[in-house]
Amino acid sequence: VVVSLVVDQMAAWIAAERWPELPATGGFARLRREGTWLRDVRYAHAVTDTAPGHSALYTGAVPRASGIVANEVIDAGGAPGGARVSLLRDPLTAMVDATGAHRDVPGSSIAALRVETVADRLRAARPDAWVVSLSLKDRGAIFAGGRAPTAAVWFDPKRDRFVTSSAFAASLPRWAAPPPHPATWELLDPAWVSAHAATPDAQEGEGDVDGFGTIFPHAFAAAKSPGHALRTSPFADDALLAMALGALDADRTPSSSSSSRSAGRPYPSLIAVSLSANDYIGHTFGPDSWEAWDELRRLDAALARFFDALDARLGPAGWAAVLAADHGTTTMPEAARVPRARPWCDGAGTSAAKSDRWQRACGPVGRILPDDLAVTLRATAERVLGKGDGKGETREPWIAGVADPYVIFTDAARALDATRGEALRAALTKDLLARTEIARVIDVRGLPPRCPEESDDSVDALVCRATPVRVGEAAAGGDLYMVARPGSFFDPSVVVGKGSSHGSPYLFDRAVPMLARAPGLVEAGRVVDTPVSFRVFARTLASLLGVEAPGAARGAPDLVRRPP
Ligand SMILES: [Zn+2]
Repeated sequence: VVVSLVVDQMAAWIAAERWPELPATGGFARLRREGTWLRDVRYAHAVTDTAPGHSALYTGAVPRASGIVANEVIDAGGAPGGARVSLLRDPLTAMVDATGAHRDVPGSSIAALRVETVADRLRAARPDAWVVSLSLKDRGAIFAGGRAPTAAVWFDPKRDRFVTSSAFAASLPRWAAPPPHPATWELLDPAWVSAHAATPDAQEGEGDVDGFGTIFPHAFAAAKSPGHALRTSPFADDALLAMALGALDADRTPSSSSSSRSAGRPYPSLIAVSLSANDYIGHTFGPDSWEAWDELRRLDAALARFFDALDARLGPAGWAAVLAADHGTTTMPEAARVPRARPWCDGAGTSAAKSDRWQRACGPVGRILPDDLAVTLRATAERVLGKGDGKGETREPWIAGVADPYVIFTDAARALDATRGEALRAALTKDLLARTEIARVIDVRGLPPRCPEESDDSVDALVCRATPVRVGEAAAGGDLYMVARPGSFFDPSVVVGKGSSHGSPYLFDRAVPMLARAPGLVEAGRVVDTPVSFRVFARTLASLLGVEAPGAARGAPDLVRRPP
């Protein structure tokens, strides 16, 4: 059984500084002891978000090749103002929950992905393979499960339940129900958290998820939306790990309806869990918060229990694990004013950034609110071009919307003659660059048809590999690519104007850790400090499953030492 874990928003810099602070009895220490730790796994793309990150991990392909160029797109058929929807939303599919398929609710699918995944290779080589993928997000579950998973299940916070899609199954597996969780989120180890966190529990800038609060203890009953509160707590990942064990157990019971296979599981098994509570907690409270430290400590303990449970079911030699992250994170702007939160900066707070290994910022940083930005850019467009003829495909005349990291034009704006088109681009670019949070605006039409070699990690090269091959070819992507200044970011709108985020081309967002543990196959206790391509993940996972890596990951480094 191969277990694939992705800790959403686990930056390489966080792992390097915080994993050594965790107890020897924890899950991270166990993987480090029994496996190899790559401290600096680097993505080759600029758009360091969840969908591009997960798709890159499970395919070995950069967004330009995979088609997964952002988390979200503008809903062209939606309300005026350009609502953002998941890139994986597929109106040809239906949401499926415990009561069955809901034809009136669009599901999510893998249709946007243009390349093969590790799970696809496994399914092709071994039609009897067992592939189960779990996440708090559709984009966290779907790429790991591939096109024909045994089950791919994710959380729908609006409906406060786990769901799948008719793209993958007609019904939800019986194990896909979260176990009960405590009524409050309290600190697991108050002394440890207060000794490590650089900011106070009541740090300014932390978000309140509908009444869930900004200080401990956080009471679920006080939150207006139980689903949103749950995913912003460590108990959401506990639920995923419990369901992963539930899936293993259900399948191992010969009488279970899900399988006619023997309990001896001679077929290859992949269980993928994308742990996103870490991401929601970072987005809401920032990575320096008491909440973030408690999340790390609780995740560490939860992983240790999960590994013990695997030992009990399969024996310590009966399972392998890989663990990585989809992207990193950065210090929250309000926390950035606390000198202790940025020990890599000198006292003046400006000059040390160049020498920081992870390119972390010094000096002031801020948030860019995408919906406010869209309003400003629409006003600029109308000043330059007028109100339009109202016949556009969308109800906005020129700017469909802003979906991090893109400004997305309407078809009418794309069809403008050269003079008016250039006037629009110039005015928008001037608006954007007037903001201190934005470093560069790149017109994606100007990107080369072939991106530079991957040894080139300039911002232009990283942006090139992050964008679609041609504008307008895919539904995803946009017209102007906005590059944030180091440490500034697009507000994730988890709690508007609060918390932290990611998405930039810099190493604090682009470098992640990876651990691989497979007794006898992957070296134990090894630490690799030099940068390694993100493709090591797909290659190593494929090797552990005994199949060839997806096309894009062939030739990548492999942590599995083949027995002679
Ligand atoms: Zn995130």
